[in-house]
Amino acid sequence: MNIETSKSLFQEAEQHIVGGVNSPSRAYKGVGGGTPIYMKKGEGSRFIDVDDNKYIDYLGAYGPIITGHAHPHITDAIKKAAESGVLYGTPTSLENVFAKKLKNAIPSLDKVRFVNSGTEAVMTTIRVARAYTGRNKIIKFAGCYHGHSDLVLVAAGSGPATLGTPDSAGIPAAIAEDVITVPFNDISSFQKALEQYGDEIAGVLVEPIVGNFGIVEPKEGFLQQVNDFAHEAGALVIYDEVITAFRFTYGSAQQLLGVEPDMTAMGKIIGGGLPIGAYGGRADIMEQVAPLGPAYQAGTMSGNPASMAAGIACLEVLEQPGTYEHLDRLGALLEDGIKNSASSYGIDVQVNRLGGALTLFFTDKEVENYKDAENTDGEKFASFFKSMLSKGVNLAPSKYEAWFLTTAHREEDIHKTLEAVDQTFAEMTG
Ligand code: PLP
Repeated sequence: MNIETSKSLFQEAEQHIVGGVNSPSRAYKGVGGGTPIYMKKGEGSRFIDVDDNKYIDYLGAYGPIITGHAHPHITDAIKKAAESGVLYGTPTSLENVFAKKLKNAIPSLDKVRFVNSGTEAVMTTIRVARAYTGRNKIIKFAGCYHGHSDLVLVAAGSGPATLGTPDSAGIPAAIAEDVITVPFNDISSFQKALEQYGDEIAGVLVEPIVGNFGIVEPKEGFLQQVNDFAHEAGALVIYDEVITAFRFTYGSAQQLLGVEPDMTAMGKIIGGGLPIGAYGGRADIMEQVAPLGPAYQAGTMSGNPASMAAGIACLEVLEQPGTYEHLDRLGALLEDGIKNSASSYGIDVQVNRLGGALTLFFTDKEVENYKDAENTDGEKFASFFKSMLSKGVNLAPSKYEAWFLTTAHREEDIHKTLEAVDQTFAEMTG
């Protein structure tokens, strides 16, 4: 495959942009390096790169693209917004329309606030939880990514319930001391953390269905117990639904799972591909936020008309009947095809799938938490990724990420993808 133009663009980028990329995961470090492919056009489920190679896309821009690239309804909404001026700094009626649409879809949201990214949304829910409870510490689950604000870039130390250590340079140890990390799906470690620090915990940050060490569902009853124990300790429960909101159903994972948090952070899908974040929750908690309350949060770009219009348009597409059945049906085809092919070549894989999102792990063991995901074979994944790319299938360049289907994917895409999977497995064992 000729990728000469991508190569020269990347070399040029390295001169001017740190690491050549504007988000580290794009640099293919998770798959042993290489030249990131520069795409020039996306349409539906497909991409064309700058060397005119064609791909079926499962990256979905790391999640926001669920209606396919350049969906006409969203494109029209963005064009219309641009023609009326992209940014006012005054309120617009679109913000009301969108806030009502989100509230109708997710009943736990009494009040919402729009921001510009998932990072901002999560960061602010923590501030609000601290303001509401008058406490400082948070509990998070190991391996869950909640954006790049200081407090959540903290990884577990050793042991089941440990004070965090910073995961990035530039984060003071004092900040990490406010974060307690416990393994996902392990209720006794969570209880231990509460026994030790319960009256200092402002909030518990939860990805209700994990998307960041692969798709990992909570064990039966786990989230309800997290809610009950956290509330007993006087802590708030915050769901980070940046990946999960509108992914599996028209609404959020909390509805799918039947557990309601106090606050929810969102992003990705709700912007239809434009920058967005949102957080919301119970009215008495949200009233902590300025201008009503003492917790400050602001944003020049927040609620901008283009993001609002794109988000509304995206939800209008998703609320059409059959959307999630389509994603689930194609997801199941993909899952079955991958598993059949793997078993015919004697390759051990686990496919964790829910609806139109799945992760392929190279392991013979079930993946229920971060340790399990860490222990899967990264080298095999890297070979798989590179081979799939060379056969025209664009996946996320990391063993921890999900494949995202869109409403634009068709059975033909799945069949072509499965042919590439089969050839790849043949090469890996040949
Ligand atoms: N929370 C979760 C669960 C995410 O997956 C991400 C991004 O991948 C974020 C928060 C941060 O969102 P953003 O990249 O929009 O800042």
